[in-house]
Amino acid sequence: METAASGLEPGLYIVAGPIGNLGDLTPRAAEVLRLADVVAVEDTRVSARLLRHAGSDRPMIPYHDHSAEGVRARLVERMAAESVALLSDAGTPLISDPGYKLVRDARAAGRKVTTLPGPSAAIAALTLSGLPTDRFLFMGFLPAKAKARGDALDEVAALRATLVFYESGPRLSESLAAMAEHLGDREATVSREISKAFEETATGMLTTLSARYADAPPKGEIVVIVGPPGEAPPASAEDADAALREALERLPVSKAAGEVAKKLGLDRRALYARAMEIKGE
Ligand code: SAM
Repeated sequence: METAASGLEPGLYIVAGPIGNLGDLTPRAAEVLRLADVVAVEDTRVSARLLRHAGSDRPMIPYHDHSAEGVRARLVERMAAESVALLSDAGTPLISDPGYKLVRDARAAGRKVTTLPGPSAAIAALTLSGLPTDRFLFMGFLPAKAKARGDALDEVAALRATLVFYESGPRLSESLAAMAEHLGDREATVSREISKAFEETATGMLTTLSARYADAPPKGEIVVIVGPPGEAPPASAEDADAALREALERLPVSKAAGEVAKKLGLDRRALYARAMEIKGE
């Protein structure tokens, strides 16, 4: 295979940068930033600081997924003979950041694609939350308009998973209130300025956190983590009676008791006894 002048194999290198603390740039990521033929970045001023920190003097090219098709096509073309590093303003490229179309097109063109894993605010906040991590859904930024935001929340309200949101200070309180309204009040955390001087994580129910930030929108970068829905409360005697009466109109006692036991998670024998009483009324 043709080798780039830099010593790196030609192809695309997805480079995760720090989310605040420059010390979190991995040695491997720094090496790629020093050796790449070109570094595709969101904002040249932001990335210039990181390149300086890494000891890199490589040229930068601004890149966004909404850049003109020609920009992406030229980068993919260059990857045939050169090494192209992709860097975001913060954290891992492609995570609420540009890159997926570049990776898609690079793969389609048969280029070599390498990732240099590192920090991402979503994962960092999840580890701080103390909420279940076995199943989680990354929601990114919620839509700004109330209707679209509510729809996005309704769509995931029944999911038994922890939810991860990126948020900004001015919208925080309103978003937390919308989450409480559409998801139900749940345990949540607000992590701010992770890995920076004023890092803090606040924990509480969504409604409490919303009230806390209503008059004091926090500064800095924010991730909200929301726990999964709680267990549904056990069905009441009234619920059981109503379900039994309905089932008895269609089914014999034993089958009605079985169906309701399954549906409401109640004891089948107790339901059978109650169904007999209802029959005798
Ligand atoms: N690609 C990045 C990543 O891997 O985390 C995310 C980029 S996204 C455009 C920026 C958002 O990430 C911020 O608005 C904030 O919600 C979150 N974020 C980034 N850095 C953070 C930090 N140090 N502390 C808390 N949240 C952060």
